[in-house]
Amino acid sequence: MIDLRSDTVTKPTPAMRRAMAEAEVGDDVLDGDPTVLALQERVAAMLGKERALFVPTGTMGNACGLWVHGRHGTEAYAHDDSHIVNWEIAGLAGLRGLQPRMVRGAPVMTLETLKAAVRSPSKHAPTASVVCFENTHNGAGGMVTPIAELRAMADFARSTLKLPIHMDGARLWNAHVATGTPLADFAECADTVMVSFSKGLGAPLGAVVAGSAAHIEEAFSARKRFGGGMRQSGIVAAAALHGLEHHLDRLADDHANAKRLARIIADGVSDVRVVPPDTNIVMIDLPARIDAPAVTAKAKALGVMISAWHDKRVRVVCHLDASAAQVDEAARVMVQALKGD
Ligand SMILES: *Cc1c(COP(=O)(O)O)cnc(C)c1O
Repeated sequence: MIDLRSDTVTKPTPAMRRAMAEAEVGDDVLDGDPTVLALQERVAAMLGKERALFVPTGTMGNACGLWVHGRHGTEAYAHDDSHIVNWEIAGLAGLRGLQPRMVRGAPVMTLETLKAAVRSPSKHAPTASVVCFENTHNGAGGMVTPIAELRAMADFARSTLKLPIHMDGARLWNAHVATGTPLADFAECADTVMVSFSKGLGAPLGAVVAGSAAHIEEAFSARKRFGGGMRQSGIVAAAALHGLEHHLDRLADDHANAKRLARIIADGVSDVRVVPPDTNIVMIDLPARIDAPAVTAKAKALGVMISAWHDKRVRVVCHLDASAAQVDEAARVMVQALKGD
């Protein structure tokens, strides 16, 4: 089976497992685990932030960021197709008492759509306490918001709306590798940034939320309250460090594989719409004659696993555990599955 459902399916490599087995550890809740501290320092430096905090999942990293900036009974600006809105079972409402103020219109948030979402002030209308960015954007097919647009959005949020920004950067690594823009330039456009190690970097789990010392102090308490204080977590942090060391630059291979797969499918099946991939995710919109569950079932029968994003869209993700040859084989199978013959 070639599994292209997500870059989360990657398994720790033998070298990563060795790094985990050999990690120096301590009690991170009591007085710090040396490998976790090393990871936090390294990622904070990469992102140009004062401090970083290791969390078990990206979802908890987003929850910590929203905890720090959000105020109960206010709104969080968020794209209507964002992970925070669609895939975190309303954590922003359930944990922080925030209502999403949906930013609609384009596949990803833009300065124009953010501006269009701003309410006219009224004593009867909600106020907002935070703006959420997502880069790359999962629902849009790993789309990158380029640094110029991101800076314009950040400037508007800070100067005009006078609001702090949390960035869901689960795949910010991919945005960096695809564009060459330094990670710190992207991260400068937000007050807190979450980055994940369990996607393209291939670690079994783990994410970091980074920001100012004061924000991360608050995030530390939030993590504890959410049940995310971990003890000898250096075992996992070692996998993240290994991923940063060995799997960051190679994300370019995933991007090249995704572009090739997209081209093969677009050339091979005339009536589908392939969203041109910026990074490692390929979204394919289906014509009336076929729906996503039928395509995924057909592909699976032929040895390729992909996911149904919704009824008329399938999603294919290139990653560490799928070689160029396997992606080419998957593309060939998908052409067959999409033709429905
Ligand atoms: C995967 C993902 C998350 C959540 O990460 P988990 O570790 O699965 O909780 C958040 N945001 C985006 C954009 C993601 O793709």
